[in-house]
Amino acid sequence: MEKADTPLQQVQANIAQACKIARRDPGEVTLVAVSKTHPAEAIQPLLIEGQRHFGENRVQEAQAKWPALREEYPAVQLHLIGQLQSNKAEDAVALFDAIHSLDRSSLVKALGKAMDKTGRRVPCFVQVDVGEEEQKGGCPIAELPALLDQAREADIPIAGLMCIPPFDIEPTPFFALLDKLARDHGPADDSWGRSMGMSGDYETAVKLGATHVRVGTALFGERG
Ligand SMILES: *Cc1c(COP(=O)(O)O)cnc(C)c1O
Repeated sequence: MEKADTPLQQVQANIAQACKIARRDPGEVTLVAVSKTHPAEAIQPLLIEGQRHFGENRVQEAQAKWPALREEYPAVQLHLIGQLQSNKAEDAVALFDAIHSLDRSSLVKALGKAMDKTGRRVPCFVQVDVGEEEQKGGCPIAELPALLDQAREADIPIAGLMCIPPFDIEPTPFFALLDKLARDHGPADDSWGRSMGMSGDYETAVKLGATHVRVGTALFGERG
């Protein structure tokens, strides 16, 4: 009997299938395994399978877990996917390889300062509030051009846009909107990333242009 696919293999296969339907190159899609709340022992098997991109939503939790794992797996790329307080900007810049939650002017200032100080220029996705739900964070669409200007002035490398659509409604229009915003506000060669899609909707997101999907539950099981 053949061995059953691991959750990682299943998610990778689903991404590949969504790419095929959308006629996209699977190499354009980065799977970010969201390991928040899960201990190192739960992360190890994915590292052994070859997964290298991981997402965390809290600076402190990531600081506690990742330095040791990274010694063993130096190619790991850490993505900060949760809301970031300005007073943690310097710690975040020191630890993470990408920040997906740049969403306000005060944070642009703090991150710009942290990058100047440390000399590490960490690519940032600007989180956009596509569903007009303040509690999830995200820059209002009307304020996006000004925030992008400010980020450029602060010499923050912009990796693209990120969104978390409203819970429990069809995400397609929100993913399509983020894709359009990235095309409208990004460089002429359309090279910006789109960080969108979670366990429940990553295949849909890939069909609509996601370059980074943030998948937790489908890889690690429910969070306790
Ligand atoms: C927790 C989280 C995820 C992963 O969610 P799952 O439904 O477990 O895949 C993705 N993005 C963000 C911003 C998160 O906070």
